[in-house]
Amino acid sequence: MTAPLLFAAISAAIFVEVVIGMGIAFWRLQYGEADPLPINSEDVATATTGAWAGWREFRVESDAFEDCGRTQRSLIFTPMDGQPLPDFAPGQYLTFSLDLAASPTEPKRTIIRCYSLSDQPNAKTYRITVKRMPAPSTLPDLPAGAASSFIHDDVKVGDLLNVKAPAGQFVLDKTSDAPAVFIAGGIGVTPMISMISWSLAHQPKRRLYLFYGARNSSDHAFKALLEGFAQSHTNFTLNVLYGAPCADDVEGQDFQHVGFVDVALLKRVLPHGRHQFYVCGPPAMMAALVPALADWGVPKTDINFESFGPASSGYIRPTTGPVGAPLQKPLDVQFRRARRTVAWTGEDASLLDFAERHGIFVESGCRTGSCGTCETRLVSGEVRYGSKPDFEVPAGACLLCVGIPASALALEA
Ligand SMILES: Cc1cc2nc3c(=O)[nH]c(=O)nc-3n(C[C@H](O)[C@H](O)[C@H](O)COP(=O)(O)OP(=O)(O)OC[C@H]3O[C@@H](n4cnc5c(N)ncnc54)[C@H](O)[C@@H]3O)c2cc1C
Repeated sequence: MTAPLLFAAISAAIFVEVVIGMGIAFWRLQYGEADPLPINSEDVATATTGAWAGWREFRVESDAFEDCGRTQRSLIFTPMDGQPLPDFAPGQYLTFSLDLAASPTEPKRTIIRCYSLSDQPNAKTYRITVKRMPAPSTLPDLPAGAASSFIHDDVKVGDLLNVKAPAGQFVLDKTSDAPAVFIAGGIGVTPMISMISWSLAHQPKRRLYLFYGARNSSDHAFKALLEGFAQSHTNFTLNVLYGAPCADDVEGQDFQHVGFVDVALLKRVLPHGRHQFYVCGPPAMMAALVPALADWGVPKTDINFESFGPASSGYIRPTTGPVGAPLQKPLDVQFRRARRTVAWTGEDASLLDFAERHGIFVESGCRTGSCGTCETRLVSGEVRYGSKPDFEVPAGACLLCVGIPASALALEA
């Protein structure tokens, strides 16, 4: 080979290498790197192979109401980049950044909210189901829920949504064949739909029980889907409870029990032996049922639960990292926006619990260090994390839901 030919061949090889390198870099930038292989069951829970970093744009392809009262709206959406969707663990949620238009009472603003995936994984679409949240009945003058109203009233088929990759640790233990008991209250049924659909498709021998509490037939969601599952899968037992049945709701047909799920009912229906429990529902249900399961003797490792709001405070927590021991010398924590300084004594599992206990309102979402909703500027001081956040918290910021003070703090919140 002549020198010019050799030079041309080497240049071509370098060029090809550079192009491939740039392609890989671009791919990583766009979609992030696949998570490393899980090494223990907790990692299995959070693993979302091929998850993207930051926000990804999706287009709403279709919608449907899941209940007769039309208070629970599903959105099905696909990624604008046309790339396949990463797998997710049934039970995980997506985080949304929603741009709300200005209203007579509120300026234009962006809010972050989490919504559970309400279907089993597939490579093309995601589905969420959102319950319209009215003002509390005791405070009817307050504005209705901002994100849920926006999703019900303003989001149309064809609209674009900014979405973070699936996350969350409230997921079905896929490695187990122990009977699974799903206990859902209201919209808490969404992650169960994902877990049950997946399990029926992939674990045909696993015993599954769903105890689902609704008010009555008007907000009984996924009725046809769940009844279809019960008819076609002998390993799935459906128990629907109505708190306040309508006059024409038929016991034994529309629902199986009147009232609320409690341990007495579980004892009546479930056979003896080990069960893995998955619980998601409104604060009152969670506050009663989760400790009651523990009192019944269910090991903590078999009680999985998720709260869609602040209900997780105060009882068995999903995170087990070190929380502050009672301090001899309390630390001052200043919440600048709230204009409050409160003494941290080490009793709370996180700065978020601490703020809520003292009546200081801070935005929050997942409460497990995933969604970033409670991130706030750390004006001064040092924070440490009882359980590691799922992403790199920027310098000068802190995540209230998993952070605890390592010194006196000044926070922007
Ligand atoms: C992991 C996770 C998964 C979730 N999955 C789902 C799901 O699948 N489906 C679903 O529907 N939800 C889900 N949620 C809940 C969801 O993220 C939102 O919290 C829910 O939609 C309410 O948000 P919002 O913006 O509509 O209400 P917000 O605006 O946050 O208001 C909440 C309530 O507070 C009231 N309020 C308004 N202003 C005030 C005030 N000043 N003082 C006191 N109260 C006030 C509102 O009237 C409303 O009742 C999930 C949450 C988490 C953390």
